[in-house]
Amino acid sequence: MISFNEAPFTGREFQYMEHALRNKRISGDGEYTKKCSAWLEETAGVSKVLLTTSGTHALEMAALLCHIRPGDEVIMPAYTFVSTANAFALRGAKIIFVDIRPDTMNIDEKLIENAITERTKAIVPVHYAGVSCEMDAIMDIAKRHHLKVVEDAAQAVMSTYKGRMLGSIGDYGCYSFHETKNYSMGEGGALLLDGEEDIRKAEIIREKGTNRSQFFRGMVDKYSWVDMGSSYLPSDLNAAYLWGNLEEADRIQNQRMASWDMYYERLLGLAENGKISLPVVPQDCQHNAHMFYLKARDMEERTRLLEWLKRREILAVFHYVPLHTSLAGKRYGCFCGEDVYTTAESERLLRLPMYYGLREEDIDQVCQAVEKFYA
Ligand SMILES: *Cc1c(COP(=O)(O)O)cnc(C)c1O
Repeated sequence: MISFNEAPFTGREFQYMEHALRNKRISGDGEYTKKCSAWLEETAGVSKVLLTTSGTHALEMAALLCHIRPGDEVIMPAYTFVSTANAFALRGAKIIFVDIRPDTMNIDEKLIENAITERTKAIVPVHYAGVSCEMDAIMDIAKRHHLKVVEDAAQAVMSTYKGRMLGSIGDYGCYSFHETKNYSMGEGGALLLDGEEDIRKAEIIREKGTNRSQFFRGMVDKYSWVDMGSSYLPSDLNAAYLWGNLEEADRIQNQRMASWDMYYERLLGLAENGKISLPVVPQDCQHNAHMFYLKARDMEERTRLLEWLKRREILAVFHYVPLHTSLAGKRYGCFCGEDVYTTAESERLLRLPMYYGLREEDIDQVCQAVEKFYA
């Protein structure tokens, strides 16, 4: 059987976790959390990276830092994971969904401006499959309308746009280190940010609304409740696992890219014959091979292909029921403009097995099965 996903494991994760245990330092912000944060700050080129308990929680922190209040509006694509919307709905925001581009499955930057009202507070671009949204256009719109930009870069760790790391371009960047992502700590994530005042506020939010971080740095002589907050810091045990992954980040990235390229080359013939569509990576974007998907003709064909693969012990999946068609999406949001591509394209999309450790012979087997289906 070929699994759809496996947690990335490079070899030293156990050793680091054992080290954390032996040091009897397993709560938050220990040695490994510091190592991971410093590495991510250096790699992404931002002044602060705060590890969080999930990508979802990084988004929730960003919503708090944006001062989202009931009645505010937040613009995002409907083709995304529920957490993107939930984080802002929790603050009372109305979610304004706009259509995606069929090539990248990302928010159509040309439709954003039309969705802006005097209540709009933020734009949340989601870098689907680790392929960047049109960030120059989005940042320009945000600047002209005085809006915050929160990058949902959950899938985009190590991806770039015009040479800049995704997650480092907007006001806040959110990473996920869930088991299904390129780099993992089981459950976890990170918030990327710049600016002294924002960093101070973020540290307070993450430490239950206390100034504990400042206390540990000797900046205040006692710590107490200073603002609203929650507990968003992960155990150092999880960070120890992540450090094992980050140390081998290039190895993970290179292997995933090789898998992605192999899929692409093998399936190009089917695409050229008009049987399927393949992912598009715009020129200015370097992706991270987070996922490999193909698009079938329609939902009916996709269902048959999924079944076909399953019978050959290959686990492929689809995802994201567009949020504006979901129960909660209807309650907390609405679609601005016409849904030309969101539903239609999401119904065609099928994700093939992709993880660190996927073997060439596995990819060969998957591609053969797909070729046979269309033969
Ligand atoms: C995975 C993911 C999240 C949530 O991350 P968790 O770490 O699972 O909470 C948010 N947005 C997108 C686009 C994701 O893919």
